[in-house]
Amino acid sequence: MPNPPVVLVVGSLHHDIMVEADHLPRRDETAVGSRWYPKFGGKGGNQAVAARAAGAGARMFGAVGKDGFGDFMLAALDRGDVDRRFLRVIEGIGTGMSVAIQDAAGDYAATIVSGANLALDPAWLGDAALWDGVAVLVLQNEIPVEVNIAAARAAKARKLRVVLNAAPAREVPTELREMVDVLIVNAVEAEMFGAEPVGDLTSALAAARHLAARYESVVVTAGGKGLAVWTLEDEEIAIAAKPVTVTSTHGAGDCFTGALAAAIARGESLATACRIASEAAAAHVSRR
Ligand code: ADP
Repeated sequence: MPNPPVVLVVGSLHHDIMVEADHLPRRDETAVGSRWYPKFGGKGGNQAVAARAAGAGARMFGAVGKDGFGDFMLAALDRGDVDRRFLRVIEGIGTGMSVAIQDAAGDYAATIVSGANLALDPAWLGDAALWDGVAVLVLQNEIPVEVNIAAARAAKARKLRVVLNAAPAREVPTELREMVDVLIVNAVEAEMFGAEPVGDLTSALAAARHLAARYESVVVTAGGKGLAVWTLEDEEIAIAAKPVTVTSTHGAGDCFTGALAAAIARGESLATACRIASEAAAAHVSRR
């Protein structure tokens, strides 16, 4: 069997520590938690694993520190069958991490430390082998914007598709915006980029239309409602989410983005890729 087209993810890797407690600590309080567990995270890492699970080859360009958390991340990428030959292990700086505390009501507070993610050097993208077999580049907003710009330039020089999941929302420089083929945002990010609040598929479509003035194609995800797409052909489509019993919606957007990139990499249209990714994300939220 020939190798599947590769989705290259240039992005973040975070070792998350999830803590469960009956309430969130107030200032100066030490609250007693009931349980904690480590979790592989960072939007970049999650999207690479999701792209591979959706049948693409997946390659991760990112960085971890030379520490135990970094080892945990590398092992998880190996389990997910993600090519990590181009990942950097950097001495003297910690692996990106977060601590998230969730209370019994599902309320949540978290702190992220970006660590090694901020030490990525755009010059490392010059390695020609990094781009072997790549069909789609996937970016997010958790690493320095200069790295995103350099990656998009390298992708465009090779006539590759560029998907930007603009999460968390931050300003996208014009040069980067003009290289993006598909923008993916959730309801919160759409609003931060100037769209009216998104609460259903009608408002998601309006948000997609609003953002289409500045991007070629736009996908606005709206959680359990589904998503709206504005395609390059000026086609607008709303796709209702598949009804499922929800276990956890954590990482739904990352699963969606990875699966979408995998479908685009094998030549599906954006509309079809969105339908496939919507199924993948529905399956994701229904399992632990
Ligand atoms: P993010 O995780 O980035 O906030 P969303 O919450 O908008 O992203 O979810 C992304 C996609 O995941 C949605 O467009 C939808 O396809 C799917 N999804 C999310 N929540 C649900 C749900 N409760 N039921 C079914 N699908 C869901």
